[in-house]
Amino acid sequence: MNDNLRDYSENDNVAEFYKSLYENQSLENNKRLKLKYNSGCNIKMYMMDALNKLDNFIDPSDPDVSVPNSIHAYQTAERIRKKYPDDIGLQITGLIHDLGKVLFTFNEPNYFIVGDTYVLGAKIPREVEHYSLVPNPDRYSELGIYSPNCGLEKLEISYGHDEYLYQVLNNNKKKHKLDTKYMNIIRYHSFYPWHTKGAYSHLISSESDLKILRDVQSFNEFDLYSKTDSVEVTDTTREYYKKKINEFFPFLLDF
Ligand code: FE
Ligand code: FE
Repeated sequence: MNDNLRDYSENDNVAEFYKSLYENQSLENNKRLKLKYNSGCNIKMYMMDALNKLDNFIDPSDPDVSVPNSIHAYQTAERIRKKYPDDIGLQITGLIHDLGKVLFTFNEPNYFIVGDTYVLGAKIPREVEHYSLVPNPDRYSELGIYSPNCGLEKLEISYGHDEYLYQVLNNNKKKHKLDTKYMNIIRYHSFYPWHTKGAYSHLISSESDLKILRDVQSFNEFDLYSKTDSVEVTDTTREYYKKKINEFFPFLLDF
């Protein structure tokens, strides 16, 4: 890999990125993007193809990841395998959790693909990333368009790779072996204000939401990346996951 490619001034870029995210994420755009992508008729490919496409994507919203996203995928899976050698479903979740970023191949701008997610149509809490860059956090009341403790499922969460991949998995439910538990981890893994910073308790409450919260939280420790603990990705690693991914996703999928 070419080390020169990794050289960018991260913090400025991240702030710039979040500014554009808050300017462009909205209920209207969320609705439009869901209509566009929830039908799953953009491209047919194997899950492995999606993984390979991420060789060409570096996440601009993450100050700690400056390697192609496919490497991050293998590393996340490997960290899980070390701790849970028998939980193949969780390893696969680690491997594919970011593959919704193939949205970049459809020319979506980064602010509709990556970044921490938050609830649209309600007051924006201080816990969101780069809160100072939110143009109008009080546009909606605390509850906004929601009723108290309406539940996770009812929330319009800012659009990105989480929701996109979740819908792909949901649309192709008969063609893969990944359990709902893992699909939910994927759906909410970028929802940091909720899963790591404790925001939105007034919108969420049911036992099933709290179960998802615990699953996402325990997944998150493997998704976090530190430059000092980088896991090596060898040919043997790639072979292991190629086999597993094809077991879980043996068919062409509608993306
Ligand atoms: Fe992600
Ligand atoms: Fe990730």
